[in-house]
Amino acid sequence: MELERVFHRIDETFDRTVAELTAFCAQPSISAQGIGMQEMAALVAARFRDLGADVLPHGFDSGYPVIFARLAGQSPRRLLFYNHYDVQPPDPLDQWRSPPFQPEVRDGFFYARGAADNKGSLVARLAALRAFREVTGGLPVSVGYVVEGEEEVGSPHLVAFVDAHRAALTGDGLIWEGASADQQGNPVLRLGNKGTLHVELRATGPSSDAHARFGGIFPNPIWKIVWALGLVRGPDGRVRLPGFYDSVVPPSPAEDALYDRLGADAGPLLGRYGLKASFPPRPAREMMVELYARPTCTLTGIGGGYQGPGGKTIVPSAAFAKLEFKLVPEQNPDTLLEALRAHLVAEGCDVEVQLLSRGYPSKTPLDHPFADLVRVTGERVYGRPFTIEPTSSGTGPRYAFTRWSSIPVVAVGGAHAGSMIHGPNENIQLEELRLHTKHVAALMQAMAGGVDASRT
Ligand SMILES: [Zn+2]
Repeated sequence: MELERVFHRIDETFDRTVAELTAFCAQPSISAQGIGMQEMAALVAARFRDLGADVLPHGFDSGYPVIFARLAGQSPRRLLFYNHYDVQPPDPLDQWRSPPFQPEVRDGFFYARGAADNKGSLVARLAALRAFREVTGGLPVSVGYVVEGEEEVGSPHLVAFVDAHRAALTGDGLIWEGASADQQGNPVLRLGNKGTLHVELRATGPSSDAHARFGGIFPNPIWKIVWALGLVRGPDGRVRLPGFYDSVVPPSPAEDALYDRLGADAGPLLGRYGLKASFPPRPAREMMVELYARPTCTLTGIGGGYQGPGGKTIVPSAAFAKLEFKLVPEQNPDTLLEALRAHLVAEGCDVEVQLLSRGYPSKTPLDHPFADLVRVTGERVYGRPFTIEPTSSGTGPRYAFTRWSSIPVVAVGGAHAGSMIHGPNENIQLEELRLHTKHVAALMQAMAGGVDASRT
């Protein structure tokens, strides 16, 4: 009954939630360019203080503060949340139908940079906390809320922040920033993310570009890069580093069953990028197993030599290639970096491998009771089944939390398949904002009762 009153309050104050999202999105907060960051951090901290939270802004020598807010609850259970207040740069500006930092609602969709990634889910969660406080005078569970300002630039300080506050960051579950609905519009529940290793291969030749007549006797850095790359991945798409696939475990039977459903997304996904088949060509279901459950090796950039029109006969002096691996939960970027260097040395390659960035995988078991509780409460609110992604095909800083504790981490809510995250005309559906708010309220209520999903 109490939850119904909270739901009613969420509906009744929905205009206020939209106004809050408008205020959040009208404030630019572009971490990569250092625009509006302190103002946004202050805005977020003020909203938590309005809710009566104990707010700790944690600054660093460089970069932007983490806002850490704590609210006491009526049961011993504790729920953690993670969001970020920074956004991607809005370019290209001429492709926006309305200015990126002047939010506009059209046909039930709210358009602004940051609406889906991820100020929408942050505002929805704040609205859930507020509705509970207004209806019951408190919260059913205690809450620890982390909002960082550097997610879009690789979260350089998050591990240090979490390490400094371990004792205060314990809980029964962590709700991660958000998960876009699938191509069919079903809400998604995502249980992990891949790791990453991004490196730059560098090679040198003569001290300056030289005439190509020396091509037979001078070392050529572009060839060095090409030979090295050929040793890393073959034309069949397989990575050639010894042992690369050794720790990759096939999906469990329960996970494997999820791919029947995820396979329905394969065609629309290819279509959105003007493609007819995957590389290498795979049936839909197999393509999705590859997307979620297997590691990748992607050439993200390459350069060297003459790039202008026509030809220029030179032996170039330098060349580079940028290579990114996305790693499944059983792989480790540190081990891979060593293996990559050792492989290239063993094969006689004369290239330097420089680390650009690394991130660690994280995964919550499919059968974790908290994941089940999030799903069951969500399905009641949304009135449709959730699509479960055993892991994200991308990366993220969950590892900052899961490296030292076994806290389950689940991403839900906040966006749809057409949300244009990181692109022009980023948007969120207002109805999704309302549903996610109710889902978070229902989850808090269920946790307080110690409700085990199997008994509900
Ligand atoms: Zn993002």
